[in-house]
Amino acid sequence: MSLLIYLNGDFVPKEEAKVSVFDHGLLYGDGVFEGIRSYNGRVFRLDEHLQRLYDSAKVIRLKIPLSIDEMKEKILETLRLNKLSDAYIRAVVTRGVGDLGLDPDKCSKEGFVFIITDKIVLYDEQFYKNGLNVITVPTRRNVPEALNPRIKSLNYLNNILAKIEAKNGNVIEAIMLNSDGYVVECTGDNIFIIKNGSLYTPPTYIGALEGITRDAVMEIARKIGMNVEEKIFNRYEVYVSDECFLTGTAAEVIPVVMVDGRIIGDGQPGEITQKLTTEFRKLTQNTGTPIYPE
Ligand code: PMP
Repeated sequence: MSLLIYLNGDFVPKEEAKVSVFDHGLLYGDGVFEGIRSYNGRVFRLDEHLQRLYDSAKVIRLKIPLSIDEMKEKILETLRLNKLSDAYIRAVVTRGVGDLGLDPDKCSKEGFVFIITDKIVLYDEQFYKNGLNVITVPTRRNVPEALNPRIKSLNYLNNILAKIEAKNGNVIEAIMLNSDGYVVECTGDNIFIIKNGSLYTPPTYIGALEGITRDAVMEIARKIGMNVEEKIFNRYEVYVSDECFLTGTAAEVIPVVMVDGRIIGDGQPGEITQKLTTEFRKLTQNTGTPIYPE
């Protein structure tokens, strides 16, 4: 059976799930999205993802034709129709069809919604076991005053340029700095460092996405008694950190063992990182919005 996609009011087979070439999501990256995951029949932090989606839409003055509750139901229904339990979910709202100019007021009155649910493609297990080697790339993260990275928009060219530079350096993920040279985040993940038992991550106001996994990991760390701070730091602090890891919906918690050729800690995934990973995985298995009525 072909995968069913929610396409602005209907469920259609993936071969028929198409958008117009006049959609401003395609022409200008004008739209917002969420990447969400379900584990063991439950969608992890669905309310938080939906809040971020609706906040992003509000900031770009995009009207979503569904209420938050309706969107939630459509996501769950898409998962049920595809009989998925452990899945990756992509919810997208574009500006809709307009003319060839920029003006969003010439587009459909309300955004165009589609939801894709599919089997999750997991990162290679070797990265979790051995840790990642990452580099800092020349492309800086968008300046919040120009395009705030807290808006999870369809315009990912900033991140894609950084990803190209990462791959050019033979690594799969890159650290992005802001225009002042402070560490912000990676192309699709937030970044954390651990020093003397304290956990640090850059504050969102310097240009990082308020990651759902980031929030969950900070909560877990506080619960196990760690000092957790959102703090500005530069590459020096990363190089001399005891442990470093990245967080994201797709990657979960992934250890970093080398940054720009500097070995982090003893070059192995750190003990605290492993503890946080275990606790995070427990949380994903036991919590979340049930897909199927219980
Ligand atoms: N930063 C960026 C730029 C991202 O695209 C993402 C999501 N892939 C993240 C951080 C992590 O956010 P979350 O934990 O909500 O997936």
